[in-house]
Amino acid sequence: MPTGFDSPPVAFLPESTRPAAAPVIRLSGRFQAHRLRLIEMITRREAALRLDIPLEMAVRHGIPGRLSVEEVSELNENPPAWLAQSRANRTGKKPVWVQLTCDICGFTESVRPKKWWPEFAYLSCEHHGSDELPEPQPGRVRTEVDGIGSRFIGVVDELPS
Ligand SMILES: [Zn+2]
Repeated sequence: MPTGFDSPPVAFLPESTRPAAAPVIRLSGRFQAHRLRLIEMITRREAALRLDIPLEMAVRHGIPGRLSVEEVSELNENPPAWLAQSRANRTGKKPVWVQLTCDICGFTESVRPKKWWPEFAYLSCEHHGSDELPEPQPGRVRTEVDGIGSRFIGVVDELPS
């Protein structure tokens, strides 16, 4: 069927020459999901976050680069053996992900915590001025730690030893 501008819109054609209605093609599973634009797709990183597993583990077990929220819920509710095993092993251990929040503007980022991080009194984005945070409590000495997550400075207020 021609689709150029010179062909009249289908609705204006005489009844007899209108093309038959397109056959309804039933798609199964994934394909059907992609036809509906309502499916919320998330990245593998976000999926790992929601499943509370390291990104490397998601890659290793074939979690695709993008997947739907429904697929993640399904994994959460009916975890495959590897996920169930990983959860059983992790009880009581440190969290896989932590949320960093800027104390000045509220920007947040979920990251894998690092062993070397001290306890932070405040977190701030790198671009804020240090005078935007409250002063350290009397007697405490402030140090700043760069390179926390992708853009944070960690502020440590310690009693001098
Ligand atoms: Zn900020």
